Amino acid sequence: MDILGIDIGGSGVKGALVDITTGRLTTERHRIPTPSPASPKAVARVVARLTRHFGWQGPIGCTLPGRVRHGVMTTAANVDKAWIGTDAQALFRKTTGCPTLVLNDADAAGVAEMAFGAGRGHTDYVILLTVGTGIGSAIFINQTLVPNSELGHLELDGHEAEKRAADSARKRDKLTWEKWARRLQRYLDHIESIFSPDLIILGGGVSRPRKFGKFSGLLHTRATLVPARLENEAGIIGAAYSARGLTTP
Ligand code: BGC
Repeated sequence: MDILGIDIGGSGVKGALVDITTGRLTTERHRIPTPSPASPKAVARVVARLTRHFGWQGPIGCTLPGRVRHGVMTTAANVDKAWIGTDAQALFRKTTGCPTLVLNDADAAGVAEMAFGAGRGHTDYVILLTVGTGIGSAIFINQTLVPNSELGHLELDGHEAEKRAADSARKRDKLTWEKWARRLQRYLDHIESIFSPDLIILGGGVSRPRKFGKFSGLLHTRATLVPARLENEAGIIGAAYSARGLTTP
């Protein structure tokens, strides 16, 4: 069964139909640049355009880069602040005419990795961290998601962790992979001092083999540390998979 998955990011809104039994994309990915400013109304129009692009009338799963409680976005660290308090689920349902489920982008990526990627078959305690512009997180116990963990905002050395250890911090501060790995190590130590995961999955752009190889050998964790497998399709796949409980209109 196919479901439309949509991943809303800072630079692009990407979507594809996903076969939720295999986790595979059944269409090409379609990307529309994120409007600027990325106000809820402007983004909702893009979500509707994507839905029309696929000629889609059915359930939609959609990610947003902030805390989403019962469809309402309650934080917006790296996106337009107008999202705070917006019922994104109701808005997208209205503009697309389709039943829609909205969830946090890292939670969606985690759901995809647990079902079809690096976390498949893991029934223990797993934390996925997406390292990109910000740091997103998803916690799983026995394959069950504990949503909206937002571990990128933990305090680290007097700063918000994502401001120090995200990939955007590496680029902003022009750090070598070695120097950045030290910051990431501090962050991972902090995570492991609070939580005791058995497996840590590192996602986001730095999980691509070409990049992961540059720093992974410098990291030491008690938990097994592995790269995510679904790369930049994880959000789309996890969003679609999470919406499987919605019925067609
Ligand atoms: C947001 C999270 C999001 C992460 C990755 C953070 O700044 O607070 O909700 O998952 O960035 O986009």
